[in-house]
Amino acid sequence: MAQDLAAAARKLGIKYFLISFTDLFGNQRAKLVPAQAIGGMQKAGAGFAGFATWLDMTPADPDLFARPDPDSLIQLPWKPEVGWLAADLWMGGKPVEQGPRNVLKAQVARAAALGLQMKTGVECEFFLVSPDGSAIADRGDTQSKPCYDQQALMRRYDVITEICDAMISLGWQPYQNDHEDANGQFEMNWHYDDVLVTADRQAFFKYMVKAIAEKHGLRATFMPKPFANLTGNGCHMHVSMWRDGENVFVDPADETGLSPLGLNFIGGVIHAADALAAFLNPTVNSYKRINAPRTTSGATWAPQSVTWTGNNRTHMVRVPEGDRFELRLADGAANPYLMGATVLAAGLDGIAQQRDPGPRLDINMYTEGHTITGVKTLPLNLLDALRALEASELKNALGPLVPSYLKLKFGEWNDYVRHLTSWERETTLDC
Ligand code: ADP
Ligand code: MG
Ligand code: MG
Ligand code: MG
Ligand code: MG
Repeated sequence: MAQDLAAAARKLGIKYFLISFTDLFGNQRAKLVPAQAIGGMQKAGAGFAGFATWLDMTPADPDLFARPDPDSLIQLPWKPEVGWLAADLWMGGKPVEQGPRNVLKAQVARAAALGLQMKTGVECEFFLVSPDGSAIADRGDTQSKPCYDQQALMRRYDVITEICDAMISLGWQPYQNDHEDANGQFEMNWHYDDVLVTADRQAFFKYMVKAIAEKHGLRATFMPKPFANLTGNGCHMHVSMWRDGENVFVDPADETGLSPLGLNFIGGVIHAADALAAFLNPTVNSYKRINAPRTTSGATWAPQSVTWTGNNRTHMVRVPEGDRFELRLADGAANPYLMGATVLAAGLDGIAQQRDPGPRLDINMYTEGHTITGVKTLPLNLLDALRALEASELKNALGPLVPSYLKLKFGEWNDYVRHLTSWERETTLDC
């Protein structure tokens, strides 16, 4: 039986619930509901006008209801009188099929029908910038190779440890925090879990980091490439598949440590990579992170080709140990739910079709990538990725998500191309 939220409010001292959902563009939308009204909301959901969000709805549609999942309840560590709840979207008495959390649950159910469970861990890089967003917040953070910079990390001790303490209290098992490869950039890691649990935590993490940064007079951004000369914000996803509590990726007999099922899963991801980019690299800005020129630190740490390898960070898929693979494609704009859902769909396709990931490449892709042939490159921009998705078999497994997503994202692309840029003026004024 799901926990009764009214009773939980009394026990935990919760005064308000934040009933939250993530739309197709990854924005979190919420209603703040006083505890005395949560009983009805738990059953019926909080009402919204769907057209006002990015969900592919019309102003004439009936009410959209966000029904909170009581298992997702998180008391805000920095304001415990508020309880955050991830919600599932309903309309007309039915789940909204393109609702991101519903999409993920549908893929989780497909895996469960095969006796499989996907577990994921994500590395959500972010920058701490000035409140107006124009520059990194710490003017003393200027090293050309700033990764793991102890001094700059410790100047942010108060904000980083407030976030880490929160994760400890929530039971997420965080284990390390560092200054990342760009000036002003940080990463905080917590333990992997079931893909839906991780997606809810990733959504909450983004909210929490922004909220705690604001409390400290800063602004946090997960934007894929906020500064052209610096390494961008990746969101690497580590993936393993489990059956009856056993990790079925593991096969110590294989040279890579991976089982045939693991290799087929990677084969599915390699096969669908250009279409996956539409979800994992969902913004115009995303394509300034992948396929990027070298940054001032010496490397972008982002992929440009569809290749896989062992413990080597220059490829799209890295297998650091045989218990999992790391997909390095996604960036900070990726929707936590659609990330999990689309990678799982690609992996299930790989397993069903026994897709071969091709040869494992053990070269430095940044310096030797040009020496190999026959390797697919990643889309160069959002339009290419959307067209790849439109042409991909992946869309069959994802149902009504894809037409809705493509419609909204093509709209976003059209909006972008209508903008006159300073680059155009500089290169064309004297034509
Ligand atoms: P790196 O920077 O080396 O890529 P991190 O330590 O920053 O790695 O992040 C690794 C992530 O992978 C963590 O979230 C971790 O819990 C997760 N992880 C570790 N083992 C597995 C596994 N078997 N399945 C899924 N995720 C895993
Ligand atoms: Mg109203
Ligand atoms: Mg990391
Ligand atoms: Mg990192
Ligand atoms: Mg990583």
